[in-house]
Amino acid sequence: MRTIEDLDVTGRRVFVRADLNVPLDGDRITDDGRIRASLPTINALRERGARVIVGAHLGRPKGQVKPEFSLRPVAARLGELLGAEVRFATDTAGESAREVAGALADGEVALVENLRFEPGETSKDDAERGEFADRLAALADLYVGDGFGAVHRKHASVFDLPRRLPHAAGRLVFTEIDVLRRLTESPQRPYAVVLGGSKVSDKLGVIENLLGTADRILIGGGMAYTFLAAQGHEVGTSLLERDQIDTVQEYLRRAADKGVEFVLPVDVVTADRFAADADRRTVDADSIPADRMGLDIGPRSAELFAAKLADAQTVFWNGPMGVFEMEPFAGGTRAVAQGLIDSGAFTVVGGGDSAAAVRSLGFDERAFGHISTGGGASLEYLEGKTLPGIAALEDE
Ligand code: ADP
Ligand code: MG
Repeated sequence: MRTIEDLDVTGRRVFVRADLNVPLDGDRITDDGRIRASLPTINALRERGARVIVGAHLGRPKGQVKPEFSLRPVAARLGELLGAEVRFATDTAGESAREVAGALADGEVALVENLRFEPGETSKDDAERGEFADRLAALADLYVGDGFGAVHRKHASVFDLPRRLPHAAGRLVFTEIDVLRRLTESPQRPYAVVLGGSKVSDKLGVIENLLGTADRILIGGGMAYTFLAAQGHEVGTSLLERDQIDTVQEYLRRAADKGVEFVLPVDVVTADRFAADADRRTVDADSIPADRMGLDIGPRSAELFAAKLADAQTVFWNGPMGVFEMEPFAGGTRAVAQGLIDSGAFTVVGGGDSAAAVRSLGFDERAFGHISTGGGASLEYLEGKTLPGIAALEDE
């Protein structure tokens, strides 16, 4: 994969596909982690006198112009973080984008409007995506792929555009792939994986693959209840994917055959309803009352998980241990984050919510080896899938 150092960018228009898909409350950005993660590439290009045109998506406007998904607030924040003006194009590849791109001087930066306002961006039809990619290609001389959070999507700006312009991987994509390769090709052992979050079905593929690479798999969060149910326990009104129970049982059997250790919660914090001020009670994982829901792993589980991480040399963590957005159910997630830090291992945190949890619970991001900006993309990589956006960049 070529890097930006391999491109002669001075005085040339460089289209940077970034991931600026930040959470918004109205037009207020509640977590600017992804904007910050895009800075190294943009700054490196500016320093070398490139004319930088940034393209990104926000939310799922489904091919329509929807003002609530406008990137305008992101342009303002990007400008603040760069300490330079970011010109904003009010369309994606139309008149405004052409005008803004054409007027850039060396070292200047522009952001075009949400790529997903155009149906061609996410279209399954190659010709429709191609037509949109042609219009984007007309804006620039070179392409840099740096939107790691979108590289698992076969979208026009991710997959078709780099086939039309000389291209390279940005700093972020390069680092992400480097780290993920380290996890899959030669992890230092013991290699422990912590999985949580809400849906088992999102993460089955990765579990399947990890059965061949990890030494220990710790399961918390909403997905733990499908595992507990697979072991025959009552899970009350907790999250449960009944149709995944057979698959989970099969994984537990295969793990036992292969000597991979599965660690499940031994206690859970239950609530009588899904609310921060709900009635709370910690119970053993095998005796959840039928009318209560588990919203966090309990303190004994937190201790057990920390002990299972203590001697690990490599740790990958995806998915919060509980509903960390509500402080009474944040304890398990906090304990696992601390467990990663205390392990001294090479630690990788993947997943949008997990990364947000680390920040919102007040941890210093630098205490972790790497915090991935792309949940879906990092999981698909670990599943062993080919990522369209990476394949396109590797294509010389
Ligand atoms: P990531 O984005 O890190 O991959 P997910 O999107 O899979 O993580 O899951 C994050 C969500 O899982 C959080 O919003 C959290 O509230 C929720 N969650 C975690 N534990 C539970 C639980 N026990 N019950 C319901 N939701 C949960
Ligand atoms: Mg998520």
